[in-house]
Amino acid sequence: MQQAGPSLVTKVANTLASGAVTAPKRISILGATGSIGASTLDLISHTPDDFEVVSVTAQSSVEKLARCARMAGAKRAVIGDETLFQALKDELSGTGIEVCAGQNALCEAASDPVDCTVAAIVGAAGLKPAVAAVRTGGRLALANKECLVSAGEVFMQEVAKADCELLPVDSEHSAAFQVLREAEPESIEKIVLTASGGPFRTWSLDEISKARREDALKHPNWTMGAKITVDSATMMNKGLELIEAYHLFPVRTDQLGMLVHPQSIVHCLVSYVDGSVLAQMAEPDMRTPIALALSWPRRMRSPTKRLDLAEVAQLTFEKADEVRFPAIRISRDAMERGGTAPAVMNAANEMAVAAFLEGRIGVPDIAAVVEETLDKAEGRGLIKECCGLDDVFGCDLRAREMAQDIIEAIQ
Ligand code: NDP
Ligand code: MG
Repeated sequence: MQQAGPSLVTKVANTLASGAVTAPKRISILGATGSIGASTLDLISHTPDDFEVVSVTAQSSVEKLARCARMAGAKRAVIGDETLFQALKDELSGTGIEVCAGQNALCEAASDPVDCTVAAIVGAAGLKPAVAAVRTGGRLALANKECLVSAGEVFMQEVAKADCELLPVDSEHSAAFQVLREAEPESIEKIVLTASGGPFRTWSLDEISKARREDALKHPNWTMGAKITVDSATMMNKGLELIEAYHLFPVRTDQLGMLVHPQSIVHCLVSYVDGSVLAQMAEPDMRTPIALALSWPRRMRSPTKRLDLAEVAQLTFEKADEVRFPAIRISRDAMERGGTAPAVMNAANEMAVAAFLEGRIGVPDIAAVVEETLDKAEGRGLIKECCGLDDVFGCDLRAREMAQDIIEAIQ
């Protein structure tokens, strides 16, 4: 994976060049009951006349989904778990909101021709619905980074083929998207993503090995879903984001870097060949990048705290420590290996994080499970060129089985 990822170069360039795009009006939110879903719904609630919510989806949070659908005045609510159809129907009886259930229904909701689909399902489970949205066209506000990690090349080919405008929601990538506005690919030297360092930034290896679930879930700067919060604690999140950036922007893998920045004010820095470094700053609040993805090329008003640098007083930066956070090295290796390696890594990480959240393994075991799965997958010929979405789904499934065996052996 040494050449620059080509696909979004043109897409981003086209988006940046055209001032003609208007703010999306009809929107669907996949993963509406989660943290990104809540931030999106909150933004919309501040300018309700500007948006019409078509579909909201969730996997199993029936009451929360019903509340979201009612509050947003959605036309349709979709629950992924088919067995919860009647429960959701009961919750929404008398509202006129259409109720659907099942994995196919999620993809059908994603295929609705809306102006913007917010892809905020967590994990590779969001890949099929996100691809369905891409194929329909319109704008995709992509929060679900696992899509790009698992299926980067294939996903970007789908984006390039369809009339889809991809806008990143992840804060670092939204920052890079803004900073790269006028850049010619040859003028970019490096893209550096910042990382808060998570709750274990100053912890020793020994302390990290004894960390409990509640320690990992105590993020210093961001309020997010459980999976990404654990990914931030292991710093796998930054590894996933490097791969995400590789697919979104016109750079080689060796032009991507990371820097720990505990205040989470500077989200990304882009260095140019003339020595200039441009950065984007904002208070750590996902409503800012979501607002950008919804309103670009305009900017909508967002009710976030305004940045006051005198109050922040200090912006500090330090190198990431790959000894205490081996996920950084593992993810960089998988990015460079390319093909199906990132899909295997992502699947193993999802399994390991779930096992950690269930109290079955410790924090250091997460990276260990991921690394051992990658080794086993390599030995069994699973890591190879990626030939399409079926390949991604197949590798994802097999990697989950291998990771499960490894987790059971640890317990
Ligand atoms: P949450 O865990 O808070 O929400 C996840 C959402 O996805 C919920 O609506 C959940 O429904 C739904 N969901 C879970 N599993 C499935 C499934 N198998 N099929 C369909 N839907 C499912 O996650 P976040 O909002 O924190 O994150 C969402 C995505 O955005 C992730 O990929 C994350 O990496 C990315 N992201 C998040 C940021 C944040 O600040 N939170 C920042 C940057 C990126 P239910 O409630 O029923 O379980
Ligand atoms: Mg991020």
